[in-house]
Parts: sequence; structure tokens; C-alpha cells
Amino acid sequence: MRVLVTGGAGFIGSHTVLALAAAGHDPVIADNFSNSKPSVLPRIEELAGRPVTLHEVDLTDTAATDALFAAGGFDAVIHFAGFKAVGESVAKPALYYRNNIDSTLSVLDAMVKHGVSRFVFSSSATVYGEKAPVPYREDWEFLEATNPYGQTKVMIERILTDVAAVNEGWKVALLRYFNPVGAHASGRIGEDPNGIPNNLMPFVSQVAVGRRDRLTVFGDDYPTSDGTGERDYIHVVDLAAGHVAALDHLDAMATPARAFNLGTGTGTSVLQIVRAFEAASGRPIPYDVGPRRAGDLPTSYADATRAREELGWTAKLSIEDMCADSWRWQSNNPEGFPS
Ligand code: UDP
Repeated sequence: MRVLVTGGAGFIGSHTVLALAAAGHDPVIADNFSNSKPSVLPRIEELAGRPVTLHEVDLTDTAATDALFAAGGFDAVIHFAGFKAVGESVAKPALYYRNNIDSTLSVLDAMVKHGVSRFVFSSSATVYGEKAPVPYREDWEFLEATNPYGQTKVMIERILTDVAAVNEGWKVALLRYFNPVGAHASGRIGEDPNGIPNNLMPFVSQVAVGRRDRLTVFGDDYPTSDGTGERDYIHVVDLAAGHVAALDHLDAMATPARAFNLGTGTGTSVLQIVRAFEAASGRPIPYDVGPRRAGDLPTSYADATRAREELGWTAKLSIEDMCADSWRWQSNNPEGFPS
């Protein structure tokens, strides 16, 4: 399939472009580099062993999006593009709602107009909110999130479900990611956050490489194995494979839209990550314990049964693989992608 990958220059998008190419699909990237750099493209091409087309386009520009589809000949869309910083979304909610929802709507309009009916969406476990029981299951119906970023995921899932229901032949997979980490085993592409990382793994890897002094562990009095927060970390290469599995499954899907958790089904604590990263890198990770971070849950992990049974997909890579690959990327590229 010829697949438009929006946000394909980003962390998960770039790994998914490689997985698509390796599976014999033809990925085409659309990205405005709002949170990525053009220098990722030659590395994607080097790893894919073939040229990959990238269109620099802002998908909130409906005319530009329409033109992309008019010339594209796409069979499917995988939609990663969107703002994703939780804290920034609290400070600038209208920016997040406008960017994430407008861009999705202009892609949907263009799909209807140009007869593209396969869609894979980059959703998040954040849609389970604070009331859903752990492990999270896809049949939990009361989706809500605790911040505007997460609410855009809830709203877009709703929009996609409604649009798929009324457009003949549409198939939409809503992929709810847990905590994507790791990097391509080559060490050539990986996560390159702007500024101070919000997420644990990039922060830990920047401490290991000497870019930051020490980690602050956000609370050690949670009701978990060692008191620190537990998350379902998933290797980005496994996650990318989950997108290919979802894409290949779409035509066989029984309902127009369906949600799938992409996680391992296991929780790992902050201190377990610290120890695993120390082992993988051979570097100490100094840390202090600070207060809990507002809005954090004690524990989050997936019930990964549906993806296994229906997509034939399971995560294969371990916490050790995630730390080793994050470290290879970080130590080979201490400042991330070249500007
Ligand atoms: N965390 C931490 N220090 C940091 C960043 C994160 O202790 O500098 C903890 C956080 O409280 C949570 C876990 O690491 O328990 C994962 O946080 P992250 O932001 O990566 O993912 P999310 O909370 O969005 O699942």
C-alpha cells in the first residue's frame, strides 16, 4: 500500500516509516518539522535502503492538504502529526485543540474527497483517564483525559468513529500507545525532544550522557512495588510493527472503527528503569526523590489481549533492549539530530 505517514519525521513516525518500507509498503511522509528536524530524512533513507518522499506541509492548511492528496494516490493514512507536550497543552489549550483537531479534520476531508478509506490513528493510553481500572481494556467506555493534549486524543477518537460509521467502506484503527521508548538498533534515529525532556527515558538518557546533572524521581510513596510510578514501557520498534499489523488488518476488521492497546502488559517502576539504564550504559544515574508530579497516576499498563488476538501482534523487546537502544542512540548523538 502507498501510505501517507503524517508526522513521519518524528520519533514514532520515523520508526514506522522504516517498518512500512521493510514490509513492502510505500510510505510517503508529510511533516512540518514543528517538533522534528529535516536531518532525519537521509537517515531514514539510509536505513530503508531506498528514497522516501517527504512533503513539508502544515496539515491545518486545508488547501495544502487537499493538494497533497490530489497528487498522492494514497491507499491509507497513518496519522501521527500533532502536538504532544502535556504541560504545554495545559498552558496553551486552544493551540492544542486547534492544531490537533484542525489537522485531523483537514486530513479526513481530503480522504473523503479523494476516496481514501483506511486510517490508523496515533492515540494514547491517556484516554483511559483516572477512573478506568488497571490493566486498561479497550472496552472501557468512559474516555476522558486529565489535560488538553489527552482530550484531543479522546475527541479525535470520537470524530474518527463517527466519520467511519457514515462513510461506506471506511476502516479506522485507534492505536492506544502506552509509554514508547528505545530507538532503532542502528543508533541512527531515536527520540530527540526539544528542551528539557518531560518523559522519563529521554531525561534518564540525557543524565547518562552528561547533558543533565541528575534525575528527579516524582514521588516514592505510591502504592507500587518500590513506591515509584509504574508504566508500561514499549520499545518503539515493537510499536512501529504494531502499526504495520494494524494497517494489514484493517480490511478484515469487523467494525468501521476499533481501538487497540499497544503495550506489553507489564508495569516497570521508575527505579527499575534507572537501574536498567545504569546497567545498559555503564554510567551512574544520580537522582533525588521529589514530590509527586500533578496528574500522575501510580500505575498504568495495558491489557494487550485484543492486539494479540486480532492483530496477531505482541511486543517482543525487553526493558534491557529499550535501555540499550536508547543509550546507543543517545551516546552516538548526544545533541540529537543535527540542525
Ligand atoms: N518521572 C520521573 N521523573 C521525570 C520524568 C518522569 O520520576 O523526570 C516518572 C513519572 O512520575 C512517571 C514515569 O516516570 O511515574 C513515567 O513518566 P513519563 O512522563 O515518561 O510518562 P507518563 O507519566 O506520561 O506515562
